[in-house]
Amino acid sequence: MYAPGDVRYEERDDPTIVEPTDAIIRMTATCICGSDLWPYRAAQEVRDPSPFGHEYVGIVEEVGPQVSSIRPGQFVIGSFFASDNTCPHCRAGFQTACVDRRPIGSEGAQAEMLRVPLADGTLVATPEVPDDTMVPSLLAASDVLGTGWFAAVAAETGPGRTVAVVGDGAVGLLGVLAARELGAERIIVFSRHEPRQKLAREYGATDIVEERGDEGVAQILDLTDGVGADSVLECVGTDQSFKQAIASTRPGGTVGYVGVPHGVSLGAKELFGPQVGLRGGPAPVRRFLPELVELIWNGQIDPGQVFDLVLPLSEVAEGYRAMDERRAIKTLLQP
Ligand SMILES: [Zn+2]
Repeated sequence: MYAPGDVRYEERDDPTIVEPTDAIIRMTATCICGSDLWPYRAAQEVRDPSPFGHEYVGIVEEVGPQVSSIRPGQFVIGSFFASDNTCPHCRAGFQTACVDRRPIGSEGAQAEMLRVPLADGTLVATPEVPDDTMVPSLLAASDVLGTGWFAAVAAETGPGRTVAVVGDGAVGLLGVLAARELGAERIIVFSRHEPRQKLAREYGATDIVEERGDEGVAQILDLTDGVGADSVLECVGTDQSFKQAIASTRPGGTVGYVGVPHGVSLGAKELFGPQVGLRGGPAPVRRFLPELVELIWNGQIDPGQVFDLVLPLSEVAEGYRAMDERRAIKTLLQP
């Protein structure tokens, strides 16, 4: 990315083993994240031309001398932060707070090859190399599925709960799927886009609310006999979406927030009154990866449906445009 709105497909040097704990993987598929759109839309600075992308699945080509559990030839998935998976934060299930975490985005996963630091802690291998049909779902586990899953877990989704989901992007839609898998009784999604409403219903949404802001909150209260939702997943990151999420939650309920906050301002007073719990941040996708890979491998979930545009990597610029203009929910790129 050279500047907002300016993404180019260019030749770069192949990555090499830099640290003995590295792996080099050859990408089977990669994709564009909703969070890549923040700098693309000038909501975040782009100082120099930078490689982009942090979602990846592929075949291990080479490993450093200290890598012991990952081997060349394996099909692997990792998350957007490399983590050692051994430090106290990792052991507590918060691998995105790893004391040695490394952002994958700065390595640039929208590429043919990728260096993954801390390979043993970061990568999860599938039982064997999957069929092509399974690749989109496994790629979704790298970020959007794991992030939606974390939002649902952080919001204390569970059997019998009424869940509301703010955001109908890929993360919100997979938050719906996660809420269903975690046993939610009722799942209400805020969405005004017909194709996204349809996928939300396929993933388990029981109710759709098209209104936003105060009107949307009024609809949630109306649907829940004035109570509010037990668990609310905030999957956008704007001031309006945060406030909408908190106001949709019943007293004693919990908001799980995974949208990267941009321009959100919440005072202690606004948080004091509603008596809601808040937990969120960069999703520790690595915590959930083994379980998610198993659910996909067994055919129990199909998160890959969020990819509604598939392009060759060379057309990455069009992939960004399509998502920016909301012509696509999420673009899968094939190197
Ligand atoms: Zn760690």
